[in-house]
Amino acid sequence: MDRDIVTIHPDPLAPAASPADMDRLVDIVAASRRMVVFTGAGISTESGIPDYRGPNGVWARNAIPSIETLRTDEEAQKEHWKFRREHYPQMLAREPNLGHVALARFDSAGRLLAVITQNIDGLHQKAGNRPDRVIELHGSTHRLRCMNCGTEYDGQEIQARLEAGAEDPRCTVCGGPLRSATVLFGEPLPQQALKLALAVSQACDLMLVVGSSLVVNPAARLPAIAKEKGARLIIINRTPTPLDVIADMHLQAEASPTLDELVRRVLDEDGGLV
Ligand code: ZN
Repeated sequence: MDRDIVTIHPDPLAPAASPADMDRLVDIVAASRRMVVFTGAGISTESGIPDYRGPNGVWARNAIPSIETLRTDEEAQKEHWKFRREHYPQMLAREPNLGHVALARFDSAGRLLAVITQNIDGLHQKAGNRPDRVIELHGSTHRLRCMNCGTEYDGQEIQARLEAGAEDPRCTVCGGPLRSATVLFGEPLPQQALKLALAVSQACDLMLVVGSSLVVNPAARLPAIAKEKGARLIIINRTPTPLDVIADMHLQAEASPTLDELVRRVLDEDGGLV
């Protein structure tokens, strides 16, 4: 099992924010009192989490079975559990990077209304963000649930059963098949998470988008809603996004070095929490 460490290896070709852009970013974030951060794969790739939807993404390399297949195809089920048994320990070993740590510091300092994330890796909570303020639009790989009765299970509990030899771990309440509590292709987003995400998007005074190309709807509409309600909108992403045209700022920059500098300048120079 490989272990990641919280170190950034600077990529000389990675885009970086200009000093003038950094100054403006610092000013806007320092003035905000109800910031919402919207994160996508770009904040976690630096922690070794693959981009699920990119050309080298897990989706492309290992077709994740549909729910119907999981319900009915015994071979596909076994394959799925084998894949999880082999790969979950790597996922569990991942550590937050400086970008996650920066957002956790904003939360501790009372600057953050919520984090809305498209990621399923749980790294915001691991970095120290309050779990009830992390809205997971695509669910979490660290939870599983019964397809029949909805009972939820912790990822480590199921992992222990897989490693003890279970080929198809079942719900201990009703015997139903289990699935990862993540949103698979073609499935609707969890309604409760979406409702909460909409509420905080309407209530924030600044939405900071980090590492999302904003192409997956309906999640990608949230920054536009925040903007319509009068919030400022900043987008930090390595590549252009469809919402750059309505953003107050869009920085084509790497997530973690930008957030690391940002949190230091906003909190430390402000006499904020260390
Ligand atoms: Zn059940």
